[in-house]
Parts: sequence; C-alpha cells; structure tokens
Amino acid sequence: MPMNSDNLTPLIGMTLPELRDVASGVGLKPFAAKQMAAWLYQRNVSDIDEMTDISKAARQRLKESFCIGREAPKTAACSADGTVKYLFEGAGGRDIEAVYIPDKDRATLCVSSQAGCKMNCSFCMTGRQGFHGNLTAARIINQILSIPQSDSLTNIVFMGMGEPTDNLDAVMKAIAILTEPWGMGWSPKRITVSSIGHLAGLKTLLEATKVHIAISVHSPFPSERESIMPVERAFPAHKVMELLRKYDFAHQRRLSVEYIMWDGFNDDIRHAEALARLTKGTSARVNLIRYHALPGDLRRPASKAAMEAFRDRLNSLGITATIRASRGEDIDAACGMLAGKQLNQ
Ligand code: SF4
Repeated sequence: MPMNSDNLTPLIGMTLPELRDVASGVGLKPFAAKQMAAWLYQRNVSDIDEMTDISKAARQRLKESFCIGREAPKTAACSADGTVKYLFEGAGGRDIEAVYIPDKDRATLCVSSQAGCKMNCSFCMTGRQGFHGNLTAARIINQILSIPQSDSLTNIVFMGMGEPTDNLDAVMKAIAILTEPWGMGWSPKRITVSSIGHLAGLKTLLEATKVHIAISVHSPFPSERESIMPVERAFPAHKVMELLRKYDFAHQRRLSVEYIMWDGFNDDIRHAEALARLTKGTSARVNLIRYHALPGDLRRPASKAAMEAFRDRLNSLGITATIRASRGEDIDAACGMLAGKQLNQ
C-alpha cells in the first residue's frame, strides 16, 4: 500500500516473492529481485539510483511507482544510561517508538508492531491509548534500518508498542526479512517476539519461525491476571502454557515469562510458587520486572527485597529467574512506558 506523499510504494518491507513481482512489473528478470533485496537489506541504500547493478532504464521505471521507503526518526531522546528512544511515523496519524538499548557487547532494538494496542493491559501506557492501526512490514523494518546504530545491532525484540500476534502478517514478513539469506541473514536466536499469549498467533510463530518467545504473565492466578490483562478471558495463561509445553524450549529456542512486580499485589512467595506450578514443564526462564508507575496510578513497584526473595524462591524450585535491569526510565522508554509522544509534548 502506498505510504508516502508521492504515492510511491516502499520497497523495504517486501519479501523476495514480492520483489519478484515488482521486478517482473518493470520488465526485469526474476534474479533482479535478489539484487534488489541485497541493496535494501544488506547494503541499506536509501535511493533506488544506488542500485547500480540494475539498468538505468529499469531504475527509472521503478521510480515511477516505488521508493525505498526509508524514513529517519522524527526525534531521539537519550537516557543517562545510554538508551535512546526514537520516534517514527506509525499508523492512523499516530507516531510509534523504538528503543535502542546498548549493554556491554549487546545492542538491542525494541521495535513496535502497532500504533497503540487493543489489549488494554492496565499497566501499559500504549494500552491506555487504544488502537490506531497496524504497522506495515515497511514501517517495522524501517525502525531497524533507519536508526544511526543500525549496523551494530545484535538483537531485535518485538516488545515495543502493540501486540505482535495481532499484526502477524507484517511481523512474519519482518522476521523473514531479518532471517532469510536474501534478507539480513540473521540467526533467529537474535530475535525475540513478546506476546500476551494469542494462541493461534503463537502457534504460527512457533511452527513457522525459530525465534525466541516471551509471554507476559504478570500473575499466575486467573482472576488477578484478568484484572490487569483483560486478554486472560480469551487466552488464559494456563492454556498458553499448555500450548507451549508441546514445543522444545530446552535446546534451539528460548521461552521467557515476563513478570512485572507490584508491591502487595503479586510479589509474595505464594505467587512465586503458583508461577512455578503454572510454568512447570515449559523450560521457561522468568524475567522479573519492576513496575514503572504510570501517571495517576496508585500502584507501587515491588521492593528490591521482595523481588529478590521471589527470584530466590523460583530458583530454589528449579526455575531460572532473573531481575531485569530497568533501562531508559528517565526518558519514558522503560517497559510499559512507550506512548509515541515526544518528551516535551
Ligand atoms: S502490554 Fe503489550 S499487549 Fe498489553 S496493552 Fe501494552 S502493548 Fe498491548
């Protein structure tokens, strides 16, 4: 779908079969699709005229209907800890955010898949905004290709704005572009997709890709989880675990359980033990995340002592659990804080 003011269709975000259709439409042989993919995803060009192994006449024909589709971030906000939050044009007139997180020899980009979100989790700034539209594969891939640190990225996590399984076609295309030899050729082990646990979407991800999976649980008790994540009604956590037990997470891919911790809500040993029972047999590791309070929210983050006791109880039950370091809190880039707004708005 055309996305820029000149009514040109972006080439980034296209898979090899789609590029073959483009090639044939401008009178090029099918092998030109691989050449275009290499220019787009390996050489990171920003102008069709840079594709110098495609004839000038064919480039001219391409330019009549297509553009590369690269769009620079509108703004960047830098945290004291090195995290950088980038604002990009999203969908439905709303902007979206991607967060660059350097950490020793790793450089992770947390990308968005939707503008807003339908899932309405009560602890999430994105959820508070409602849903404004799905990102195209072009706009997902653009976040990765158009930040200044693009060449040094080591990992991609689909943990930004939106629920990836609710925009699965575009997310699957982005994963193909990241991992296929004609694309960026990354190992799927460098990619994690986070989900609230949409069963059909998860099944597709598990069968068609080898990426790591992260599931947002946040409470092992159905009514309590439903009180903060309405999606529990449609996709109960125990059903999600039932599905995940059918797949091997001990060897080729990793399963993480995300667990945000609130003071006096879900931070005691009873919860740790119930979480251990819920995830039994899945090989999941648990990431414990301190809550980042949203404006007007009276809930408080769990204390360091409670989080450490929770972690230790899980570890004693044979579950690998770690407390995730909070990054980018001073620029509203930490987990659950993404709003698609400039800081000075
Ligand atoms: S936590 Fe994820 S699924 Fe829930 S509202 Fe926020 S973006 Fe959507």
